[in-house]
Amino acid sequence: MTRDTNRSPEHRFRTLAVGSGPNGIRPVEGGPDDVIPPLHLSTTFEWAGSDEITEHAYSRESNPTRVALEDQIARLEGGEHGLVFASGMAAISTTMLSLVPPGGHIVSSDSVYSGTEKLLTEILAGHFGIDIDFIDARDPENVAAVADSDTDLIWVETPSNPLIRLCDVRSIADIAQDHNAAFGVDSTFASPYFQAPLDLGADVVVHSTTKYLNGHSDSTGGAVITDDDAAFENLAFSQQTGLGNMLAPFDCYLVARGIKTLPTRMEDHEKNAMAVARFLEDHDWVDRVHYPGLESHPQHDLAAEQMSGYSGMLSFEFDGTLAEIEAFVEGLDIFTPGASLGGVESLIEVPSLMIPDEVDHGPATAEVPENLVRMSVGIEDVDDLREDLRTALP
Ligand SMILES: *Cc1c(COP(=O)(O)O)cnc(C)c1O
Repeated sequence: MTRDTNRSPEHRFRTLAVGSGPNGIRPVEGGPDDVIPPLHLSTTFEWAGSDEITEHAYSRESNPTRVALEDQIARLEGGEHGLVFASGMAAISTTMLSLVPPGGHIVSSDSVYSGTEKLLTEILAGHFGIDIDFIDARDPENVAAVADSDTDLIWVETPSNPLIRLCDVRSIADIAQDHNAAFGVDSTFASPYFQAPLDLGADVVVHSTTKYLNGHSDSTGGAVITDDDAAFENLAFSQQTGLGNMLAPFDCYLVARGIKTLPTRMEDHEKNAMAVARFLEDHDWVDRVHYPGLESHPQHDLAAEQMSGYSGMLSFEFDGTLAEIEAFVEGLDIFTPGASLGGVESLIEVPSLMIPDEVDHGPATAEVPENLVRMSVGIEDVDDLREDLRTALP
């Protein structure tokens, strides 16, 4: 499967990811024509003259390695502007702080990353007096029921972490437009390869680059992409001048390097995840598998419509006690227990055992079942992955 954004007719996705062609690389003026954007560690750049502002003067505001990555990510997502931040949470918090005034109103999906939930409830609501409605956004009617002309931002994550629930981006974009609210989508689980929320009407797209974009579990970062010039100006001011919250050059270099193989990795993640999902679905100790590529996923049709592939994240409900789940995880050889996801290696997480305080949600957000197991399916040999599960399952 190949994905093409309709915003980049001149190059297909795989070509954009590698960065080949005239749009691919932005050499530094006067420097050598690097094929790979170099790593610029300098915090400051010589001024050409007192009345001549050079593009790069001070690295918090602009750094050539960072700008190269921001351009690369914007092209992949089919957007006008890209910005990269110190983490996925930094990208999300900066987006929310720059789009929502104190005392403003956010409508959020009730199935979001636990860090996003804490940001919303403890910092934005608790500290800034922002009014937040959590709703089950799988049904756009629930969004329409609480959004009004005072709403500043509608926020969803699709597919969601860790329940793998989807939101209908196109329908929610219409609702946001009716109320003149900004619409933000955390598209981390899909990566830009399998989903293009801007094409579906979102105003702002966010990724934790820590996950699929970097893809090698060795850099923490986040990205925001938008077509909206005013939102971009606001975000850039917050990122650079106000909050000082940008990705460091070395991490930019790593993410840019990772992106070159994003399409190839995503194809393998998806192929392996589909095989693992089907294996689990047939297993006696597995109650329910949440993977959008399975026909049994209640939103499979929506996934087929708004995504061009189903990615590598799944979760399932284990039919056994917590002690049995623990024994299963300990019996695994290839799947490593750990937080995070989206790297080439397979990881497994049992939220109730490993991050109990994050699972202990308030009543506002969707319940994470105690027996839920989340998997980031890597790109190892799929027969080894199945064998590992077969051996470790009771
Ligand atoms: C990991 C994750 C984040 C947070 O990203 P960090 O880079 O860890 O700050 C946000 N959203 C989703 C969906 C994630 O999986």
